[in-house]
Amino acid sequence: MATTRPVRVMDPFAREFWEYAEKKEFRMQKCGECNKLRWPAAAVCDKCLSAEYSWEPLSGKGQVLSWIVFHRQYFPEYPAPHPAVAVELAEGPIFVCCMPDEFQGSDLSDALPMELTWLDAEDRFGEYHLPVFKPAGK
Ligand SMILES: [Zn+2]
Repeated sequence: MATTRPVRVMDPFAREFWEYAEKKEFRMQKCGECNKLRWPAAAVCDKCLSAEYSWEPLSGKGQVLSWIVFHRQYFPEYPAPHPAVAVELAEGPIFVCCMPDEFQGSDLSDALPMELTWLDAEDRFGEYHLPVFKPAGK
């Protein structure tokens, strides 16, 4: 069953990201000039300003860069305490996300290997697959 989440950003570039996510494909824009991976998705490369890109499939692997546990509720969809984790992807970009409900901030440690998983989610744009990370092998 899909869990209601805060409303997604839905500009034309984000929409392309979510279209891949619909197929559970975790992709990011790869610059057509300098090959830098762009996150979040954008109109031009923040390194070389090229507007050329393709959608590069990523490994779904990374490691904990940092995390925080919110003890105050900011969104009704995320009751406190609520962990959020910054994952340094194997390909380089930093991806900030929540984790599946069964994981807490106490499950995390510096440089802990993390792996991609998908949550069934819903917002005013409809049901979708939300890419998040969890401790690898758990
Ligand atoms: Zn570039």
